[in-house]
Amino acid sequence: MPKGIFKVPQISNEPVKSYAPGSPERSWLKKEIEKMRSEVIDIPMIIDGQEVRTDNTVSIHPPHERKHLLGHYHKGDASHVQMAIKAALKARKKWANLSWEHRASIFLKAASLLAGPYRMKLNAATMLAQSKSVFQAEIDSAGELIDFFRFNVKYMTEIYDQQPNSPNTIWDRVEYRPLEGFVFALTPFNFTSIAGNLPSSPALMGNTVVWKCSNTQVYSAKVIMDIFREAGVPDGVINLVFVSGPVAGNEIFSHKDFTGIHFTGSTEVFQNIWKTIGTNIHNYRSYPRIVGETGGKDFVFADPTANTDHLVVALVRGAFEYQGQKCSAASRAYVPRSLWPEVRSKLEDMVNGIKMGPPEDFSNFFNAVIDEPSFDKLAGFIDRAKTDKEAEVIIGGDYDKSEGFFIEPTVILASDPKYITMEEELFGPVLTLYVYEDEKIDETLKVLNETSNYALTGAIFSTDRYNIERLSKALVDCAGNFYINDKPTGAVVGQQPFGGARGSGTNDKAGSYLNLLRWVSARSIKEEFVPPVDYRYPFMDEV
Ligand code: NAD
Repeated sequence: MPKGIFKVPQISNEPVKSYAPGSPERSWLKKEIEKMRSEVIDIPMIIDGQEVRTDNTVSIHPPHERKHLLGHYHKGDASHVQMAIKAALKARKKWANLSWEHRASIFLKAASLLAGPYRMKLNAATMLAQSKSVFQAEIDSAGELIDFFRFNVKYMTEIYDQQPNSPNTIWDRVEYRPLEGFVFALTPFNFTSIAGNLPSSPALMGNTVVWKCSNTQVYSAKVIMDIFREAGVPDGVINLVFVSGPVAGNEIFSHKDFTGIHFTGSTEVFQNIWKTIGTNIHNYRSYPRIVGETGGKDFVFADPTANTDHLVVALVRGAFEYQGQKCSAASRAYVPRSLWPEVRSKLEDMVNGIKMGPPEDFSNFFNAVIDEPSFDKLAGFIDRAKTDKEAEVIIGGDYDKSEGFFIEPTVILASDPKYITMEEELFGPVLTLYVYEDEKIDETLKVLNETSNYALTGAIFSTDRYNIERLSKALVDCAGNFYINDKPTGAVVGQQPFGGARGSGTNDKAGSYLNLLRWVSARSIKEEFVPPVDYRYPFMDEV
């Protein structure tokens, strides 16, 4: 146990590198990309610190270059999930008893490894296997994941620091125990940082974890696991399996020691998981913690005083960076009739100037969508908008999967504010706009509020302070992350804790102490220094 009340190092956000021509990071990253492209990597599962291979291998290809082979991963089955659960439970006691400063050291070391020797490896893996541009990879797999590791250490100590009052002869203490059992981290394809954060934040708080990543994020998950191992995460504390979601779910949710799920992904999957946990509730030792950040139908609302230059950049970056595959992506917008001609012409100019292609060519702003099912789904919605009478495709609308899964940045103009692409999360580069009459601002705010079940992010654009307050109040329940005169994407750890309400999740705010609180179960300890020696109270005395 520590003989000192240790303070964690000063924590600040990791600076984002520019990768400008001539910069050292640019040539370092290019070399790493070239190296990864020239190899065929073999990726095993990692269970109890051991590499586990199977006869069932699955090939990995860049979404933007279907014919190129990056490697294979070894797909597991139910027996591997059971092995991972066993390993997590075996490792639990020792890990839970390790003093907090050693857990902190491991994850601070992981941050330093990622900021240094692993930065380009993780960026290159994310660019190649998830089709992210340099900048999108840098702010995700480097910047955000480093920030998660470091800020979570700080938040952990702030939680531990929360202690009750103690009158004179007693000492009240609260200890923040890890949960009793194992935690399941179930992660999405679109953010490497989220994939790294979901298993590591419960582990930092003393839990052991079974981690199942998305089958389209295996390459960068492997690099994250390398970082964990080199940073000193002990065997069995984080176990990575490559199985299908339902196979993992069957084993995990029927296990009596399942104690929590840390999920990010789609709303439908999360709702089914919640239902399964509810059905099995009698079987568990403890009530499992259910933490899920899910889908969004994120909005941009401009009032008639909005600055159209600011608005259009926010629409383009908000809707099309990482091909719109961000839970926070701007996917519906409301523009007043008086501004529409100006907004339309600026939007056409800007979107038509977007260069699309593989991320290895750094001049491309825009790359491919993740896989064929996603491509087909998006193409279906675009085709439908081309024929539906309530919609018109005004920009983009072409797609081609011969080389890679490329869908043009597409803008749909809807005459019905409840048109399907104003309501449903498409998760791709499709922005739908509705033009409202200036005098109908209040009705339009009401429609916005009632259009979708999601409430993740949203942005308003206005230069009128009274309107800024009015819109902020009118849309109070529509977004867990609300932006004024900025795009609705790009939340930064330590600055804008992230998460949404309604159908968008439990709003446990990744990148804040609120999230870490879900991974502990507090024990109150009262110590009496001078215990009483008589059972009777003064009121019982004779007068
Ligand atoms: P997804 O729901 O398809 O998959 C997420 C994870 O769940 C994957 O590991 C997948 O294999 C697994 N899974 C799928 N079906 C399963 C089942 N039946 N049982 C158990 N596990 C199952 O999501 P995705 O396509 O990887 O990611 C995109 C989604 O994630 C979007 O809806 C997006 O909005 C959301 N997202 C939300 C946030 C947020 O913070 N709110 C952040 C990123 C992504």
